[in-house]
Amino acid sequence: MPIKIIEVGKRHCPAGVCDQCGERITDAEDGNVLWVMTGKPKSKLILNDELFLTHKKCNRVLEKRLSQGRETETHIQSKGLDVFIAELVQNLGVTLEGAKRTKHRMDLLGLIE
Ligand SMILES: [Zn+2]
Repeated sequence: MPIKIIEVGKRHCPAGVCDQCGERITDAEDGNVLWVMTGKPKSKLILNDELFLTHKKCNRVLEKRLSQGRETETHIQSKGLDVFIAELVQNLGVTLEGAKRTKHRMDLLGLIE
């Protein structure tokens, strides 16, 4: 589970954690999102919807680990974490103005440092 709740001071905050080294990812440009597809290359591949986060430096080791021990052929797919988040924000209908309003509300409540 790459997204976890962590304690920052007295608050609980969502954070991305590398599935390979277990360390927090603090820069989206330094992270990747991986997922696994299985099946033979010329047939329809099956999408496994589980996601994995990794630092870019940990990516190769995690890819190798995800490929091992599976009965079917695996195809590891990946995107930069920054790209993934931008696509997720768009797919959730979050607008820049909406995000600014939410941040402003949280600032007023003292929920963002
Ligand atoms: Zn890592």
